[in-house]
Amino acid sequence: MPWVDTKICTGCGRCVQVCPKEAISMGEDNKAHIDQKLCNKCGRCMLECPVNATRPNSEDPSLVGGGGAFPRMEGRGRRSNPGGSRKGR
Ligand code: SF4
Ligand code: SF4
Repeated sequence: MPWVDTKICTGCGRCVQVCPKEAISMGEDNKAHIDQKLCNKCGRCMLECPVNATRPNSEDPSLVGGGGAFPRMEGRGRRSNPGGSRKGR
């Protein structure tokens, strides 16, 4: 299952445009976020991303340059707001 390394994502929006399932949206942090419930694992976002921020769900966090980068998205449809603030709402 693809996921986005938000430390790398530039917010260009290309993955949003190529996703056939409209599974990707831009967050208020201007980073791409994938709705795991909608994603069909076609891989287009990974092909399109110019900076390789869309990553396969490898079990090897070293592939993305640090164990802390591995997101805890399994079983979650949407990220809650970790900071607790809801700017812009
Ligand atoms: S793998 Fe395909 S369906 Fe899933 S987020 Fe990427 S482009 Fe969308
Ligand atoms: S294509 Fe890559 S850099 Fe652009 S918004 Fe999507 S994940 Fe971010």
